[in-house]
Amino acid sequence: MAATSPAQLYFRNIYDAVKSILIGMRITLKYCFSKTITIQYPHERIAFAPRYRGIHEFEADKCIACDQCAKACPVDCIYIDKSAPRKVDKETGKAIGGELLRYAIDYQKCMFCGLCTEPCPTDCIHMGKNHDLSSYSRDEMVVEFAEISKQGLKTPMPLWAQRNAGTIPWVASEKERIEKGKLATTDADITAV
Ligand code: SF4
Ligand code: SF4
Repeated sequence: MAATSPAQLYFRNIYDAVKSILIGMRITLKYCFSKTITIQYPHERIAFAPRYRGIHEFEADKCIACDQCAKACPVDCIYIDKSAPRKVDKETGKAIGGELLRYAIDYQKCMFCGLCTEPCPTDCIHMGKNHDLSSYSRDEMVVEFAEISKQGLKTPMPLWAQRNAGTIPWVASEKERIEKGKLATTDADITAV
C-alpha cells in the first residue's frame, strides 16, 4: 500500500474537520426546530405523573410510630420517637396513646425510593408532588414532620411557594393547598397496574 504523502494528509485533515463541523451543525439545527423540553419554572407549572415521588406528605394524627417505615428505608433517614405505645382508635381512625415526639426525614440522604410508604399499616406516609426543598442550611434539610403537623401542615412549605405566591397564580393555589394540609395525590388519582 502506498504511503500517504504530507499533502494528502493535510487535505485529509481539512476534510475531516469540515465534515465533523457539518455533522455537528446538522444536529444543532435539528434541535432548533424540535419541541422545547425545558420550561420557565416556576412561571410555568410542571405536570407530574400520579405516581411521581416528591417530598413526603405525612398524616401525624394517623401515625402509630411503629417504625415500619424507618426499617424499610434503605438509607436510614427516618427518625421516630414516641413517649409511649400508640395504636389506632377504631372509631375515629386516629392514633391514640403516647405522644409522637418526633417524626423526621433527612432529605440530605433520602433518595425518594418510596419504600417507606409500602409497609405503613395506617397509610399515613405518602410521596408528595413537591420536588424543590431548597434551603440556606443543612439543618433545614431535615424536615420535622411531627413539628410542622402542629401548624396543620402535612409537608414543608417550600421557599419558592412563599416567595412567588403573590405573583404566580398556580403557586398561590399550591401554597393554599399546603397550608390547608390537603394531600397532593389521593388513591383515586392512581390507576391500578
Ligand atoms: S423515600 Fe426511600 S430513602 Fe426516602 S425516606 Fe422513604 S425509604 Fe427512605
Ligand atoms: S409505618 Fe406508618 S404508622 Fe408506622 S411509624 Fe411509619 S408512618 Fe408511622
